[in-house]
Amino acid sequence: MVLLRFAPSPTGALHLGGLRTALYNHLYARKLGGKWILRIEDTDSARYVPGSVDGIRSALEWAGLGYDHGPGKDGAHGPYFQSERLDLYHSYTRKLLDSGHAYRCFCSSDKLNSTREKLARTGSNVTYDKACLSLTEEEVARRVRAGEKSIVRLNVSGLDDRLPKRQTPSDVIFGILKDAHASLPTDPVLLKSDLFPTYHLASIVDDHEMGITHVLRGEEWLPSLPLHLDLYSCLNLSPPQFAHLPILLNPDGTKMSKRKGDVQVLDFMRRGWEPEALLNWLALAGWGVHHENGGTPDASPSRTSLQAPDSTTLMSLSELIDQFDLPSLTHRRNILDPLKLEYLNKHHLMRSWQTNEGIEIHAKRVSDSVKIAFPSR
Ligand code: GLU
Repeated sequence: MVLLRFAPSPTGALHLGGLRTALYNHLYARKLGGKWILRIEDTDSARYVPGSVDGIRSALEWAGLGYDHGPGKDGAHGPYFQSERLDLYHSYTRKLLDSGHAYRCFCSSDKLNSTREKLARTGSNVTYDKACLSLTEEEVARRVRAGEKSIVRLNVSGLDDRLPKRQTPSDVIFGILKDAHASLPTDPVLLKSDLFPTYHLASIVDDHEMGITHVLRGEEWLPSLPLHLDLYSCLNLSPPQFAHLPILLNPDGTKMSKRKGDVQVLDFMRRGWEPEALLNWLALAGWGVHHENGGTPDASPSRTSLQAPDSTTLMSLSELIDQFDLPSLTHRRNILDPLKLEYLNKHHLMRSWQTNEGIEIHAKRVSDSVKIAFPSR
């Protein structure tokens, strides 16, 4: 059975991009009779925004995207907050240290900054001089016993020799990524000095431990794919399949941002948009163009029904599930045109008014959006 996850960080409200990621996870899981998990990636306490988990959950509920496992729901894959899974990350860090794939670094942040600046002045794209890689085992043990703070880094040098099966990264939507390893930072940090994992370690450990079969996430994580695949290889684990979803753009080609209008799902809830129209709009913006670079064939069902709907085809959530085809998503950046949302919204409303049940649902939605917009009334 396929198992997916939507893994937002609780750093603020859910944006359209996050909703689109959750939606595609939902469509793919439901299409293949699988499930999806809501996992909260809260390992960066400095960026934590109180209330954001509730905000994410209520936006998903409003949109009708019900997760199978996650906060507030029992299930076999918890805990669902990464801050409650630290022992797991520590045990994987230990494995990587013991196998020599990772090492402790005791450099202070001042020293790291000055090393980085020095290296940059020489025109190098190396960001760390690997000074701590040459510490002897005894020296490391002595410094740990003395309570000196350290971080843990992946030893990237020589991975090609050490990992006979080092993979060339490939993505269901973006295809084969040539020379992707070249852009990796020098010996990326896996465990921070506060003993919290970085995103990279936590996400590969959780995807493995939770039994995730497919990772659908934003394009901004594509450069991290080689590192994630290296981590799986170092740990001798098989990775899930990856599909990165292209960045969303305004009609003028600029990146969506708060300054340019509504990007938070809450804005759309407050304004009383039809959730199904919003999902319809988001889903079709990246839909159905057969990408030329050839995605990796995956376990999806037959690709025979591939007459791509046009981006204003009226589709309910169950129709979207029915017609969803992951490898056919475009790798080009997706333009979200507000005029198309208006059109879809009007037609979804008209469709729902054709039934009594639809009128009741709509009346409830209007009263809910009044409550969201004016919470004190
Ligand atoms: N926590 C990451 C984010 O909020 C998710 C990355 C992932 O899905 O692996 O962008």
